[in-house]
Amino acid sequence: MDFSLSAEQTQITEMVAEFVDEEVVPVADEIDAADEFPAELIEELADLDLMGMPFPEEYGGAGLDYHTYPAVLEELSRGSGGLGTIVAAHISLAGNMIYAFGTDEQKEEYLTPLAQGDDIGAFALSEAGAGSDVPAMETTAEKVGDEYVIDGGKLWISNGSVADTVTVFAKTDPEAGNEGISSFVLRPADDDGFVVEGTEDKLGDKGCPTAELRFDNVTIPESRRLGEEGRGFVHALKTLNGGRITIAARSVGIAQAALDAAVEYSGDREQFDRPISEFQTIQHKLADMDTKTQAARLLMHDAADRKIRGESFAKEAAQAKLYASEVSREVANEGIQIHGGYGYTKDFPAERFYRDAKLNEIYEGTSEVLRNTIAGELLD
Ligand SMILES: Cc1cc2nc3c(=O)[nH]c(=O)nc-3n(C[C@H](O)[C@H](O)[C@H](O)COP(=O)(O)OP(=O)(O)OC[C@H]3O[C@@H](n4cnc5c(N)ncnc54)[C@H](O)[C@@H]3O)c2cc1C
Repeated sequence: MDFSLSAEQTQITEMVAEFVDEEVVPVADEIDAADEFPAELIEELADLDLMGMPFPEEYGGAGLDYHTYPAVLEELSRGSGGLGTIVAAHISLAGNMIYAFGTDEQKEEYLTPLAQGDDIGAFALSEAGAGSDVPAMETTAEKVGDEYVIDGGKLWISNGSVADTVTVFAKTDPEAGNEGISSFVLRPADDDGFVVEGTEDKLGDKGCPTAELRFDNVTIPESRRLGEEGRGFVHALKTLNGGRITIAARSVGIAQAALDAAVEYSGDREQFDRPISEFQTIQHKLADMDTKTQAARLLMHDAADRKIRGESFAKEAAQAKLYASEVSREVANEGIQIHGGYGYTKDFPAERFYRDAKLNEIYEGTSEVLRNTIAGELLD
């Protein structure tokens, strides 16, 4: 693939990079320490038209293509890993579910406020007993007249405690396995029985609340169902394919932040009467960190390219996410190493990058599950 961003794509990405340097980087440690949803920052992103990046303008989006959107998400994640998850879950998961599978009325009602940044979105698929094994979910949606009664709960839901719109997966036919799952839109403020049980105290990804949700006979009209009954599993897989491109973006952004910090530190830190950047060992570490980060970025754009062309991109998105997530953890690890003892303290952000990077290997398909996906495509 011969790839480089166009002048317009570069201009938008650079505008966001500047915003991140001025508005996000200075508060990133604060977000990490407080672990509170950065509502003001999200309002600023909405003002910049960044909360509905890939959606058409008729639904309040910015109409950005799938190279620019991940490039921008990379920049946001370079500033704060938590911010990267907030925006990725809001757009790539919740927003895309409604954009791809909703009716025009559902898009107008639920997607437009998400894309404008007036509402926050979440995507509720995982449960305590159903992570990698999605069909093991126990949440049910029973049809009663022209309503559904939703019963059960979800775990690990990014933005779950602050969301206005939550796309929820539940079994409409518990005997039918994959084909018995359907997807719905829930509105926590309107829907009696929607309970936020609490949020997780996590290693990293601070600022993005990861919530446990409970549904006690939540009764919703049929008009809240997305697409046909029984299509929820396919909706989830398709949405996660696209989502993996943006988790690759979050990974690349964090790797870039770790690399930038290591380059700066290695020029400042002197040992044996010279900056440590003069040691070839350190130079080679930096060279490897940069090479891996760039390779991950290209895999991300390769998957994006196939998505834009309407080609199948499940393998490429899995590869981009798998490789970029492992690179982000490796690069962040070397970043700490280059900082020596200081890297192991909260005096420098190197340890935050490491904590934030680790998550990339877990959500939206663990590395093990993604290797299964890639092998499955190869052997198909
Ligand atoms: C911070 C955070 C945010 C999240 N946000 C969301 C969200 O917004 N929405 C949502 O729905 N979910 C979300 N998740 C859930 C996430 O997608 C799951 O944690 C993930 O899919 C793994 O599921 P699990 O935790 O149950 O692990 P398990 O599936 O129990 O896996 C445990 C281990 O077994 C391995 N394993 C499992 N099955 C296989 C297999 N077939 N072959 C080989 N190895 C296997 C895994 O790779 C892993 O190493 C989030 C998770 C976290 C930690």
